[in-house]
Amino acid sequence: MSISENIIKIKSSIPSNVTLVVVTKTQPIEKLMDVYETGHHIFGENKVQEMLDKYGQLPKDIEWHLIGHLQSNKVKFIAPFVTLIHSVDSLKLLQEIDKQAKKNNRVINCLLQIYIAKEETKFGLDFTEAKNLLRSDTLKQLKNIKITGLMGMATNTDNQEQIAGEFQSLKQFFDLHKHSETPNIKLETLSMGMSSDYLISIKNGSTLIRVGSSIFGNRT
Ligand SMILES: *Cc1c(COP(=O)(O)O)cnc(C)c1O
Repeated sequence: MSISENIIKIKSSIPSNVTLVVVTKTQPIEKLMDVYETGHHIFGENKVQEMLDKYGQLPKDIEWHLIGHLQSNKVKFIAPFVTLIHSVDSLKLLQEIDKQAKKNNRVINCLLQIYIAKEETKFGLDFTEAKNLLRSDTLKQLKNIKITGLMGMATNTDNQEQIAGEFQSLKQFFDLHKHSETPNIKLETLSMGMSSDYLISIKNGSTLIRVGSSIFGNRT
């Protein structure tokens, strides 16, 4: 099937309150234009340099989501235009995002990445660290960032019950912290689910899915 058919198929299989981020990492510009021309303008990249290159070459009404690990020294490059950073995993990183957002006269929306998988390789905060970060006085003073939700990746396994359980644990944490008194925290977005598990994630409360290979085919 073509890229546009795949996008239409995915969109028709998800509820209207769930946002699709098309993960364009490793794909060439032509393929991003194919996506753009279907009318879908929300793209996810996992590397700063690749996002910058593509941002420079594509129409300016694209929403760019950074979904991969972000180093503090690279925040300045994406601060002028990034729509949502999914991968915030420290206060230090948040402080840098705030600083660069301020320079650009913007408020940058961020998700805290929470570690829910039973794997060694994934980045993120555990629940205790996330709770402490959400309660931190330093965070309250950051005027140019807003925590708009949480992101998590389930273990890469065929065990659907395990995947569902991991998503449920994040949904539970999300619900517990939804009603924060802090002005720059408003948890609305729960970014969970990729090609292999987005249907499970939606059943368990996801409001945003990040899908690449189901649209473009397997990355080489
Ligand atoms: C690559 C990537 C995805 C998309 O994965 P697919 O299996 O291709 O859908 C989603 N989220 C993150 C953080 C990724 O790095």
